[in-house]
Amino acid sequence: MGSRAEQRESARQLAARLDAEGVGNVALTWVDNAGITRVKSVPAPRLSDVVTRGVGMSPVFDVFTSDDAIATSEHLGGPDGDLRLFPDLDRLTTLAAQPGWAWAPVDRYDQLGQPHPACQRLFARRMVDRAAAAGLELRMGFETEWVVTRAPQDLADAAALDYPCTGPAYGMARVVALSDYLRDVTEALTVQGVEVLQLHPEYAPGQFEVSTAAGDPLRAADDVVLVRETIRAVSARHGLRAGFAPSVVAGEVGNGCHLHLSLHRAGTSLHRTAGADWGLAPEAVAFLAGVLDALPALLAVGCPSPASYLRLQPSHWAGVYQCWGVENREAALRLVTGAPDDPDGGHTEVKTFDAAANPYLVVGAVIAAGLHGIDTAAQLPAPQAGDPGILGVRERARRGIVRLPATLTEAADRFEKATPLREALGDVLHGAVLAVRRAEEAHFAGQEPAEIAAATRWRW
Ligand code: GLU
Ligand code: MG
Repeated sequence: MGSRAEQRESARQLAARLDAEGVGNVALTWVDNAGITRVKSVPAPRLSDVVTRGVGMSPVFDVFTSDDAIATSEHLGGPDGDLRLFPDLDRLTTLAAQPGWAWAPVDRYDQLGQPHPACQRLFARRMVDRAAAAGLELRMGFETEWVVTRAPQDLADAAALDYPCTGPAYGMARVVALSDYLRDVTEALTVQGVEVLQLHPEYAPGQFEVSTAAGDPLRAADDVVLVRETIRAVSARHGLRAGFAPSVVAGEVGNGCHLHLSLHRAGTSLHRTAGADWGLAPEAVAFLAGVLDALPALLAVGCPSPASYLRLQPSHWAGVYQCWGVENREAALRLVTGAPDDPDGGHTEVKTFDAAANPYLVVGAVIAAGLHGIDTAAQLPAPQAGDPGILGVRERARRGIVRLPATLTEAADRFEKATPLREALGDVLHGAVLAVRRAEEAHFAGQEPAEIAAATRWRW
């Protein structure tokens, strides 16, 4: 970061560039603890003021729930106080499917310029820096799954969902039916600088998936926000509606938001170590073991809604058992080896998480858990092959395979007691996340799966 005058000048130049492109508005987004992307927008010419003074926003959004109710934590809630949103202009992106608009993610500070202790993006950055201080670099990327329907009249009625394609799961027929739409999704992401690796139909009716290139964890979290809002905008332009909710229709396969990660030291992958089992260097083993150990508590971050637990069913490829496996799509952690020279191999996929999660919290919490694994020299148990869901209870117990929390309450209880995570998040952010989880539990208590799915279907 340069001096204030330099920041103003470079923002002024960016605003002039936007003006020349016909962009009048900049959407400044952050993601709250319920996983909702919230926004303030500013006219593009105001950017030079905004980079030095920020934009005002209440801290109460840290305790907003997914239904826009307001919880309270020990530190947050109520009408008082103000924060300043500072856009990261390195991520300023002209939006392909919203003509006249650009986007940038924000970091949140208080009015005196101190980092806001509950800013999730600053938390993610702190954890990236913590890894870097230990000489470690993480590369991460998210997969985005979504269900597309014709814009429905009745948002709550599952029977009214009107899919614009009817072909089989993974079927070319779905691509043919929606080829203009899918081309526009790819094109919009590409011109926005997001590298698309794959785009394909998924299992559930109307479901698709896009995966994007891995990179710096903060960038990966920004990217998944941009990807989602771009898909939403392209869908709207086609008269369609995109749903990213964990459970669009209760009982169907849901939408995951799997996290791919790899660990590197001095430019060398720790997943490609010659002579080591599965290529995993000892530090990568300990990192993954730390993540695996922390998964029950991490579910309160990565699977944050009561709707998340409708998706988390055995034998639904959602990774509901606390185990890892080599290329095992039913394990919570899937080690992706690939061929020795495969550039897409040599990483691990966390399958359990969904798109109701705040991606900044996800990347930060996963790094914190992994670094704790390294600090404690954690060891991985034996890998599991096959679907633990089809084993009997006794056989699972014999193999030491434990089911991850099956309710938000259980995950939140684990999160409440997870000292390393609490220490990494800090009390203010940890308390705000917990308050939101408890409020969501209370709000949906006693509701049937179909009611929970209906209420959350279009929220993310
Ligand atoms: N839709 C599945 C989920 O709920 C994942 C399918 C896949 O393996 O990509 O996570
Ligand atoms: Mg998928």
